[in-house]
Amino acid sequence: MEAKLIEGKALAAEVKREAAQQTEALKAKGITPCLAVILVGEDPASQVYVRGKINDCAQCGIESRNIRLPEETTQEELLARVDELAGDPAVHGILVQLPLPAHIDEKAIIDAIPPEKDVDGFSPVNVGRMQIGEPCYLPCTPAGCIRMIESTGVPIPGKHAVVIGRSNIVGKPAAMLLLAKNATVTICHSKTQNLQAICASADILVAAVGRAGFVTGDMIKPGAVVIDVGINRGADGKLHGDVDFETAAQKAAWITPVPGGVGPMTRAMLMLNTVEAARRAMEK
Ligand code: NDP
Repeated sequence: MEAKLIEGKALAAEVKREAAQQTEALKAKGITPCLAVILVGEDPASQVYVRGKINDCAQCGIESRNIRLPEETTQEELLARVDELAGDPAVHGILVQLPLPAHIDEKAIIDAIPPEKDVDGFSPVNVGRMQIGEPCYLPCTPAGCIRMIESTGVPIPGKHAVVIGRSNIVGKPAAMLLLAKNATVTICHSKTQNLQAICASADILVAAVGRAGFVTGDMIKPGAVVIDVGINRGADGKLHGDVDFETAAQKAAWITPVPGGVGPMTRAMLMLNTVEAARRAMEK
């Protein structure tokens, strides 16, 4: 069997069209959604990500503030910039591009973003609200994964969903969102025993490991939906997923490509969160 591709780029374009329509509607009511993106330092990958987010904003009619700070920015200086944006009513979403330079405490910075402007969904308040099913900003990558699974038409309720990885930004929230969709969820990590057998029992498999080609065809249940979150730059300079695409696609019914899968969807979901933040600010 040859798996069908879950076209991340096309789905992302659809989500961005939704964001653009909602932006238009908000503008008609006198409010222009605005996202502030802070980048500290010169990390090349982060620069690419930030450029992408700024371009996405432009495509959706969302205003953006592109704030570039030098590598040697102190924690206090960064906190002061975040506070300034937190108090600016024209700014609806604040995103601090991670990772931050080692001398800055990431947690302190994320904690300083007010929950109503935390469009990345990483702050403790948003994470807590997500856990108990209250309105919140869903973290973009896991929310994008759910949308991709739903796009296949395969119903999630009752399915065995296996998530490999338990990071706070991908694995754990992906598992929580799948649980909220009534999947039966197993979370695997580096200490998991019998990983191969657990994965091979997954109707839905989400790989967020950070190791190129980690998930091979023998770990896939025939007919499974496979979501590959991994972005790993290989020695060949190309991007590789956590899933060995060739062997996995022989077993899965649906599979995401890398690149062009979860990455574009993550960015698109950020646009929806930003529009939502503007709407909430207006309603307040
Ligand atoms: P982390 O390194 O924070 O987490 C990796 C997880 O994988 C950990 O929970 C770790 O377990 C687990 N793991 C590592 N080795 C094994 C193993 N041998 N067996 C089972 N589990 C293992 O990574 P992130 O969650 O931040 O990111 C994961 C991947 O997703 C990366 O490639 C990253 O680049 C990509 N990514 C892609 C995004 C996108 O938009 N497409 C967005 C964010 C990330 P343990 O907890 O025990 O250490």
